[in-house]
Amino acid sequence: MLNGLRLGRIAGIEIVADWSLLVIFFLVTMSLGAGVFPAWHPDWSNAQSLVTAAFAAVLFFASVLAHELAHALVGRANGMGISRITLFVFGGIAQLEREPDRWTTELKMAIVGPLTSIVLGLTLLALAVATAEFGARTPVSTADILAAMGPLATLLFWVGQINLMLALFNLVPGFPLDGGRVLRALLWGATGNLRRATRRASQAGQLFSWVLVLAGFGIMLGLQVPLLGRGLLPGLWLVFIGWFLHNAAVMSYRQLLIQEALEHVPVERIMHADFVSVPGAATVAELVENYVIPGRQRTFPVVEGDRFIGLVGLEDIRKAPRGAWDRTTAREVMTPAAAVSTVPPGESAAEAMIALGRRGVNQLPVVDKGRVRGLLSREDILRLLSIYGDPALAS
Ligand SMILES: [Zn+2]
Repeated sequence: MLNGLRLGRIAGIEIVADWSLLVIFFLVTMSLGAGVFPAWHPDWSNAQSLVTAAFAAVLFFASVLAHELAHALVGRANGMGISRITLFVFGGIAQLEREPDRWTTELKMAIVGPLTSIVLGLTLLALAVATAEFGARTPVSTADILAAMGPLATLLFWVGQINLMLALFNLVPGFPLDGGRVLRALLWGATGNLRRATRRASQAGQLFSWVLVLAGFGIMLGLQVPLLGRGLLPGLWLVFIGWFLHNAAVMSYRQLLIQEALEHVPVERIMHADFVSVPGAATVAELVENYVIPGRQRTFPVVEGDRFIGLVGLEDIRKAPRGAWDRTTAREVMTPAAAVSTVPPGESAAEAMIALGRRGVNQLPVVDKGRVRGLLSREDILRLLSIYGDPALAS
């Protein structure tokens, strides 16, 4: 499930680097070390440029992390569950378990990311100027300023301005960028209608993504666009980002519609009530012979009398050596009830889907007062969605 490299935990939030980050690290280091820094400092050796570039790339990712952490910490202070931050090709994503339920929470959470980048950017630029050695000469041109900067000042300068660009890009008012979230929060606050606010913000996001794609093609054809440069590669890059943003804008609106469709359906309406449960005293051999092989169920609630005491699946069976199947009971290999996440029958399908995602499981026992009433799988929820049709088209 984890598609990346675990970097550690900060304030209880897991930090994961997507594998794509390695590629980006290489690209940033190369373009800085072989392009930008040699142009700023023709007197530097190749090694000096490359080492400075590698440090700059690391600081760049640290900046993105700081931006995402700001979102996550403010979210958490406002009661949002955030368990993980994934750093990937376009920066970072703070994984929300659900969307904010108040517009003020969304506003605070969204704005704090770009603010962090702005503060960080200005601080680094100030430090860069402070560490530059201008000597007696007053710098008159950008080239003078750059030439006065040693490796440390150059590093700080580049990371400082990239933070400002990060803030600027994220402030574009198109959902799901931070600026789009701010826009959505304000529309939501003004109208009280989350769905309409999301639709408008998502449309703004799509519009912006088309601007990016067009600008990208323009740049590829030789157009000069301020801030973005020109040439084939920057152009391609923009087209790619635009395309990605377009998908993100469409998907995030759709996700909201799905959540709304599931919100009013209680789990007991879509669960499987015709499941089979296994007595705790049954041996693993009996479990395999009488339950697993003839049935279609993959996971079985284990009961004692009526009471739910655990869950046993194929992986649990494999825990017992083949020769011991006659002597081992279901109770001994099961996952005990206390360690199993369950849902009550009255819970909404939307909440159940969040629980499925959070635990990374495919199935949840539906438990009421210690008794199993049914089993709910991911497929049950998908089936429900297919019955209702694609909610994005229905609205
Ligand atoms: Zn952000």
